[in-house]
Amino acid sequence: MSYDVIVIGAGPAGYVAAIRCAQLGLKTACIDAWQDRDGKPVAGGTCLNAGCIPSKALLESSEFYEKIHRSGRHHGIAVNGAVLDVPSLMQRKDDIVRDLTTGIAALFKANGVEWIAGHGQLQPDCQVQVTPHTGEATVIGAAHVILATGSSPVEIDAAPLQDDIIVDSSGALDWQSVPAHVGIIGAGVIGLELGSVWRRLGAEVTLLEAQDVFLAMADQQIVRTGLRLFRQQGLDIHLGALVKSSQVVDASVALDYEDKNGRHALKVDRLIVAVGRRPRTDTIASKEAGLLLAEGGFIHVDADCSTNLPGVWAIGDAVRGPMLAHKGSEEGIAVAERIAGQSAEVNYDAIASVIYTQPEIAWVGKSEEALQGSGTQFNSGLFPFAASGRARAMQESDGMVKVLSDAATDRILGVHIIGAHASELIAEAVIAMEFDGCSEDIARTVFAHPTLSEALHEAALDVDGRAIHIAKIRHS
Ligand code: FAD
Ligand code: AMP
Repeated sequence: MSYDVIVIGAGPAGYVAAIRCAQLGLKTACIDAWQDRDGKPVAGGTCLNAGCIPSKALLESSEFYEKIHRSGRHHGIAVNGAVLDVPSLMQRKDDIVRDLTTGIAALFKANGVEWIAGHGQLQPDCQVQVTPHTGEATVIGAAHVILATGSSPVEIDAAPLQDDIIVDSSGALDWQSVPAHVGIIGAGVIGLELGSVWRRLGAEVTLLEAQDVFLAMADQQIVRTGLRLFRQQGLDIHLGALVKSSQVVDASVALDYEDKNGRHALKVDRLIVAVGRRPRTDTIASKEAGLLLAEGGFIHVDADCSTNLPGVWAIGDAVRGPMLAHKGSEEGIAVAERIAGQSAEVNYDAIASVIYTQPEIAWVGKSEEALQGSGTQFNSGLFPFAASGRARAMQESDGMVKVLSDAATDRILGVHIIGAHASELIAEAVIAMEFDGCSEDIARTVFAHPTLSEALHEAALDVDGRAIHIAKIRHS
């Protein structure tokens, strides 16, 4: 059987690429190996089955529980007798995942994408060997192959996974009861999100992070506020704490970690290993295919996602760049359009990152530290949510918006937000950057009142020292 395009992997990179190819009139197949816990093949990859969607479903439920349980009193509402039902909460998450993965199967059908369940392996000359979950392997061919095999959690010798006691992020999305004390190795994005879920549901949560710097990739002024607030909420975050070993003893975990004060022992009931992800490329191509891998096992690609092999492309977590669903999806669309002879580009400078904690942290573009490091001259504007009427009305006055713009041209170089709904607010900054906007463009835009967005407006005004709702002493 011959296709115009075969996509290996049906995560947000691969399934989006396959649908766009089909929209462009290309005969397309998409192969995926994922099976749900009943062994049923499901589309959607990590994002839908064990990443973005289930984690956000649990973050939402746990925040709702915390609000009922703890925050109602701020509004003058006392709720007694709120009962947590973890299996129902997990069922809700599973139902959302099932609906969305079924939705992708329906999209494939509607667009004429052939979905093939099984393991795909690239062979020479754009041939692909498909090994179904049961039955004989077959070989299919295409003019183009898109590799979108995604990533897997990193495992470390210091904490080998064990049953549901020492788990990776997938395991921590499935616990059916609240452990008394959860340990987490790694205070990165995934560690903080999962830690937030289980803390809000009632667990004591300790995060051990090897690096001295918290969230080193984000703007450090924003991060300092985050660290303070997360600790206030009860997340026990230890920086500079390298986990050396862990052992399951009597259904709990004995941890040994080292920091600047020496060695420490810690006992927890459950342990989550959240130390990053690595590209899933071990079996992606036969040796004869000659696919070039880059450092860290990523598939080597150029700026257009072309691999070293003619007609073979690679996208998503399996290639360089941030491991984010939306980055992979946009690469998928761009590659489909290139295959169809169109020109397409992904603007890697305007890809937002989000941490779905409470408050959320979101940013796009360069941090203050990165600009200082590159010697770029910039101006900075800042606006605290404490001065936003809407944020006050929402009881969400923690955090701030920060706008960084080029000192000479005023072009926006970065926007950093910590606050409620930062994940939604950041889109305004992404659009401004996509249009090559200046802080003055945002400053001169009319924002609805009262909204959280006004904080972006005021931060843009503050770049030029003219924010209205912050008092600055002026000398005449
Ligand atoms: P994947 O989603 O990993 O999909 C790859 C697919 O390829 C899988 O279905 C796999 O089974 C299949 N596959 C692999 N090898 C083969 C093969 N040889 N043959 C056939 N099929 C194969 N990102 C965000 O942007 N926002 C978030 O909020 C977010 N939250 C996350 C929370 C958690 C807990 C985790 C773990 C991740 C989160 N991510 C988030 C990251 C996001 O899930 C990934 O960036 C995204 O899924 C990558 O998409 P992908 O298509 O490249 O790969
Ligand atoms: P992220 O890549 O954002 O998911 O973050 C993973 C974090 O885990 C990184 O900040 C690492 O420094 C941290 N990490 C990796 N190995 C260890 C370890 N053995 N002990 C503590 N933290 C670790």
